[in-house]
Amino acid sequence: MTNPGCRTLRHCRTALPGCPLPSFPPAPSREQHPTALPRRAPARTHRHTHRPRDRRTHPRSLSHTALCARRPPRTGSRRAARPSRRHLPRSRRPAAPAGPAHWHEHFPIANGERQSPIDICRKSAKYDSSLKPLSFSYDPSTARNIVNNGHSFNVEFDDSSDKSVVQGGALDGVYRLVQFHIHWGSCDGQGSEHTVDGVKYDAELHIVHWNVKYGKFAEAVKHPDGLAVVGIFMKVGNAKPEMQKVVDALSSIQTKGKQASFTNFDPTGLLPACRDYWTYPGSLTTPPLLECVIWHVLKEPITVSPEQMCKLRGLCFNAENEPVCHMVDNWRPCQPLKSREVRASFQ
Ligand SMILES: [Zn+2]
Repeated sequence: MTNPGCRTLRHCRTALPGCPLPSFPPAPSREQHPTALPRRAPARTHRHTHRPRDRRTHPRSLSHTALCARRPPRTGSRRAARPSRRHLPRSRRPAAPAGPAHWHEHFPIANGERQSPIDICRKSAKYDSSLKPLSFSYDPSTARNIVNNGHSFNVEFDDSSDKSVVQGGALDGVYRLVQFHIHWGSCDGQGSEHTVDGVKYDAELHIVHWNVKYGKFAEAVKHPDGLAVVGIFMKVGNAKPEMQKVVDALSSIQTKGKQASFTNFDPTGLLPACRDYWTYPGSLTTPPLLECVIWHVLKEPITVSPEQMCKLRGLCFNAENEPVCHMVDNWRPCQPLKSREVRASFQ
């Protein structure tokens, strides 16, 4: 089947300044993430992340720079020959590196003890009979907008009340729905953030909730049990009818900064039939990478059609008046498990 998303990527990779996509194909592997040498300074967004609800600065967002500026690794000799940035006039200084491999330079917590995503090893995950079922209670009337933030798209919900919440699982108390978004690849076989026994899925849906005991999202992210993110793997197969409303809305938010009304939507329709999950303590997968997330990753993937997946890949990182740069590979590679244990709700 033709894949307009991937076809346009080739154009994007070779022809458009500011948008080389040398990682397409192949994907960056866990072991060898592409060195990013962007043409622009790191997104200012990183400095504003204490305002997490700001669309440009939401902590669950990758920067355009981080994703679009992936370039082939330079050789040691070329790197060594590069003049120090400090000896150049500000206007001629090369931009500082960006991309997941460089996030630790601005966010030391990138090398922290509970970073996400991780590879989930089925054999090592420990069944915990004390884990409860996840209980989703979503009110479609809380859906508000869909937004292209230049890194992904967010479907945003009114979180001023407890109308849409998740509880149970490994959670204590009630967590309020605030938004969902998706990570995906430039072609099938990559795109998910978590992996299972080293295997990537084609995309991963993240449904984000915050712990009501902290009063607001911005406060919740400061605490180890502040957020509950439910991760749902996606693979190309049969269409997901409940996803079509989301996919159809993408045409009205093609470029960065676009927003459209998105109402009367129940994300429960995006869940798989089986609610078995793995859970572990982790982090945001985008700067500022705060270690505030209790993750629940569902075992069963959902499927979307090739056409639905292509619509995701047809979104753009760029703003309307900028060169076209398709929104793909907005995923972070797996991080070390360190001393953590992954628990399973199933045997
Ligand atoms: Zn995410």
